[in-house]
Amino acid sequence: MIVVGGGPVGLAAALELARFGVPTVVLEQRDSTSWHPKTRNFNTRTMEIARGWGRVVYERLRAVDTPPGWKSPIRFLTTAIGEQIGEIESTGFEGPGAEISPARPVMSSQDLFEQILYDACAATGKVDLRFSHELTAVLGGSYRADAGAAVEVKSSSGEKYRLDGPAIVAADGVDSLVRSQLGIALHGEKDLHHFINCYFRADIESHLDGRTGVLFFVASPNAVGVLQPLDANGRWLSQIVVAPAEWSTERFTPERVRAWVRGAAGVSDLAVEVLSVGRWRMNAAVAARLVQGRVVLCGDAAHQFPPTGGLGVNTGLQGMHNAMWKLALSVRGLAGWALLDTYDTERRLPAEQTARQSLENHRNVGLIAAAAFAHDEKAMSAEEVIRTSRRYGNHLGVEFGTAYTSRAVIPDGSTPPEVDDPYSDYAPSATPGCRAPHVWLIDQALSTLDLFGSGFTLLTGPTGKRWCAAARTAEAHTGVPVASYVAGTPALVDNVDRFLELYGIEADGAVLVRPDGYVAWRSRGDLAPDAGAVADVVRMVLCRSRASKAPAGSNFDRT
Ligand SMILES: Cc1cc2nc3c(=O)[nH]c(=O)nc-3n(C[C@H](O)[C@H](O)[C@H](O)COP(=O)(O)OP(=O)(O)OC[C@H]3O[C@@H](n4cnc5c(N)ncnc54)[C@H](O)[C@@H]3O)c2cc1C
Repeated sequence: MIVVGGGPVGLAAALELARFGVPTVVLEQRDSTSWHPKTRNFNTRTMEIARGWGRVVYERLRAVDTPPGWKSPIRFLTTAIGEQIGEIESTGFEGPGAEISPARPVMSSQDLFEQILYDACAATGKVDLRFSHELTAVLGGSYRADAGAAVEVKSSSGEKYRLDGPAIVAADGVDSLVRSQLGIALHGEKDLHHFINCYFRADIESHLDGRTGVLFFVASPNAVGVLQPLDANGRWLSQIVVAPAEWSTERFTPERVRAWVRGAAGVSDLAVEVLSVGRWRMNAAVAARLVQGRVVLCGDAAHQFPPTGGLGVNTGLQGMHNAMWKLALSVRGLAGWALLDTYDTERRLPAEQTARQSLENHRNVGLIAAAAFAHDEKAMSAEEVIRTSRRYGNHLGVEFGTAYTSRAVIPDGSTPPEVDDPYSDYAPSATPGCRAPHVWLIDQALSTLDLFGSGFTLLTGPTGKRWCAAARTAEAHTGVPVASYVAGTPALVDNVDRFLELYGIEADGAVLVRPDGYVAWRSRGDLAPDAGAVADVVRMVLCRSRASKAPAGSNFDRT
């Protein structure tokens, strides 16, 4: 497989493909992973995905987390040490807790994440990491009828060569060459703002007098922008909106950065060591197609959001996770290519919702500063804007609660529970199309989520053993692994009642979970499984047969 881009999404895509036994070549034009911190947050759902890459990777990511107290709140201030206008509790950054997920989020920096993912790729033995190799053209694969994909690559010595593979994962970022060569448009708002992003070392912490937080939005005559603590120990990042003419690292000199940081902190003699200065443009856009032929767009190549949401890289990684099992099974001939199209069907909505909401958050931040400083009687007060900005940093709904409807899900007639705000609030549900809920097993040593491997997983209640035979038949008939587990057996003691309640089944019911941890199908109970029932379900989900009888438990007949 050809993966274009060795940023977080490209590296993670290679890791995912390795889990399915698919070797990859990662092409990256830079000579090393990023050393500019860029984004900071791997949220809880992303860290659930990281558990699938093994304990070492998960623990290394957890080890770079910021100390407690630095994931909430989002503060709005004159300066970091000055008057506070208001704050938003950001539970999304702190995570939903061990009742909802076995994973914990990480607030750190992209340079550290990328190095960990790079090392993990190298350790698989299945990833050929070609840094200083730039993709210069897509030669084949843009049509489904193409027998394979091919690209032209330029190495650091200037030599050009052709690379063939079964498909292309385009994780080549915001200005994706693959996307433009395929003529895929970006829909949405582009070039909304130009950011200068400064990475520096300064002891702001000791001036804060215990005022910790995840984001310090500041607005004063000396500095407008946001200060972002990276490790609560002197490493910081800042984002400054500038006019297009000022969007230049030559114009934004280290001396100017130092003056800005002192103004933002409110400490005129602060020692500031500037480490690097980056530039990026703010878009709120989603690609017109996420899949074309044998090419799959992932990460910023597929969608771009304002940073005010902390969901850019997370949505990229979660979309990648949705796509890679489908791609792996398709190229191995175990699934129909139509399965890959469900990546677009399933991930477009969360991408569009996140783009909209992140943009609204960005606008609200502007309104808060304006309300605080404009002294306009008719304008909303800063407190009012902050109240209406609750969704900023509170995104558990879009992170966990998206219920997919597509050919890769077989509905059972139920709908997920309603919540007050589908963007912010999440109620666990095993309705087909939902993320399979987390339940602790074996004295909290294991979660149901840890059972989901590189195949399907069938979970059944204490009297549902016969489903396991059907799962074995499915594996034998389809060639795709179908693991099965019976709740309450010695290996899976604990929380049987909670498992049955959250998964919405009787003791003899069963749930089939896809490799990405989403529920494919559910039989709530009272159905005697016939030997071929699970095989029928797996074939339908994999888009392998166009005509099939409705599998037991579904209310749906696909023709
Ligand atoms: C300076 C900066 C600051 C940022 N700050 C924030 C922030 O504060 N908050 C936030 O949410 N997001 C931020 N972002 C965005 C965030 O970094 C991205 O959302 C995230 O990196 C997306 O990951 P990705 O792997 O999809 O793309 P990228 O990280 O952009 O990776 C794409 C990779 O593809 C490589 N590539 C591109 N073209 C080719 C080619 N032709 N051949 C080979 N390789 C190629 C690139 O070199 C790059 O390494 C920032 C981005 C930048 C640039």
